[in-house]
Amino acid sequence: MFSKVLVANRGEIALRVIRACQELGVKTVAVYSEADARAPHVREADEAVLIGPPPSSQSYLVGERLIDVALRTGAQAIHPGYGFLSERAWFARAVRDAGLVFIGPPAEAIEAMGSKTAARQLAISAGVPVVPGTTESVRNAAEAIAIAETFGFPVLLKAAAGGGGKGMRIVRAASELADALASAKREAQNAFGDDAVYIEKYIEGPRHVEIQVLADTHGNVVHLGERECSVQRRHQKMIEEAPSVAVSPELRARMGATAVAAARAAGYVNAGTCEFLLDKDGQYYFLEMNTRIQVEHPVTELVMGLDLVQWQIRVAAGEALPFPHKDFVPRGWAMECRITSEDPTNGFLPSTGRIEYLHVPTGPGVRWDGGIESGSDIGLHYDPMLAKLIVHAPTRELAISRMRRALRELTIDGIETSRSFHLRVMDHPDFQRGDITIQWLEQNLPALTAPATSRESIRLAAIAAALVAHEERRAGSGGPATSNASIASGESSRSVHGPTWRDVARRDSLRFS
Ligand code: ADP
Repeated sequence: MFSKVLVANRGEIALRVIRACQELGVKTVAVYSEADARAPHVREADEAVLIGPPPSSQSYLVGERLIDVALRTGAQAIHPGYGFLSERAWFARAVRDAGLVFIGPPAEAIEAMGSKTAARQLAISAGVPVVPGTTESVRNAAEAIAIAETFGFPVLLKAAAGGGGKGMRIVRAASELADALASAKREAQNAFGDDAVYIEKYIEGPRHVEIQVLADTHGNVVHLGERECSVQRRHQKMIEEAPSVAVSPELRARMGATAVAAARAAGYVNAGTCEFLLDKDGQYYFLEMNTRIQVEHPVTELVMGLDLVQWQIRVAAGEALPFPHKDFVPRGWAMECRITSEDPTNGFLPSTGRIEYLHVPTGPGVRWDGGIESGSDIGLHYDPMLAKLIVHAPTRELAISRMRRALRELTIDGIETSRSFHLRVMDHPDFQRGDITIQWLEQNLPALTAPATSRESIRLAAIAAALVAHEERRAGSGGPATSNASIASGESSRSVHGPTWRDVARRDSLRFS
């Protein structure tokens, strides 16, 4: 096992990796930008090194500097987390060339899966079903129209180097293709420095179902079942669960075998995910392989009972998987909500500011993977995902009520977050039935994001006014802020830190929403 690992990331995933290392008895080195000097991951690591100014292009993305810090601090391996440098083949190669271990797949496997067109070619050669379309980028609109007409509209234009839903355009008619191709190419060039775009058939009303795989350096590849990630906005996942209501044990076995075949074809090692579209008839199509740990990995951990990040580290250290032929069966139901600093009532506009007060839900079956605390400053330099709220329960129905309970307990004061949106999803009958496709969220956006009704607003204002009047009366009487409980126990001189009136008012308004 390694004695020291450098964590080349920030926020919740940096903390997640640090925790895994601590449990394995491995020392950690955190890196941080000037914006993150007081971030929790910096404090929790054994050592922390400043790597540059806030923009990630000058800090978290400067691979040579990270490798230099690892060498100077005596770390033997680098865990990239997700995002940033996690899927850059050149970085994995540079880490290896520096005599360090990259905790992830070999650079060659990242390359093989890095381009969507190359991944499609590899999948086809391994007998993995892919969405009908091209494996080469299209040269011009005329060629694109000719190809589209072979399988019919609507089609989806996709950036070969794509990720995060960027460079994607749905095209419903030949007349729209030229404009869509030009704008997809422009967006791809800006986002990835590569304007290659190819065509796929647009599948109507599918689910996004992905399979977690884990492979060691001894030739063992296992799959750990599926995650259902159909609740998406602009091709970005918002809520994930394991297992999926749409996957039977028989389908799980087939999709799992397909994912293992794709991983083997790529010479894959470490944790990875094969993403599929699953249509209404139970047909599935390979989309791509994510060659890193994913945001939504905890739902798999909870139902399968293992620590994926620890296994990433153990496999990278050369350990063989002790369950090479195990048929993993999900136990209970797990669900994850991504808590982002975005305002759902205002088009998911990013929200910035200081987190004045954070109350994290606890209790049975609740897990919080976060990178924030009271006092954290939320800016625009990094991804808006602040934390993940994850629950585990015996059934899907109980997981939903547990999630609702946990979301109500959660208080984040000072910035807007996605919390209210998640509560609305939990209350929605379609979601409760599991009757969801990747288009569901966009189709129901108004109902899921409308501001509180006027009746609720009036109630909220009344509660707030009453509480303010109460505080003022108390301040006027000169007494310290105390609760009834502390007075009863004779501790009247000690101030009690409880929820602010805003917490109470907000929770109350939600209870009645
Ligand atoms: P990215 O790497 O940018 O996230 P993906 O290929 O993983 O792109 O696709 C992102 C999302 O877009 C999928 O989860 C799915 O919701 C949707 N999508 C992708 N391909 C298709 C398709 N052929 N038909 C319909 N929807 C698709």
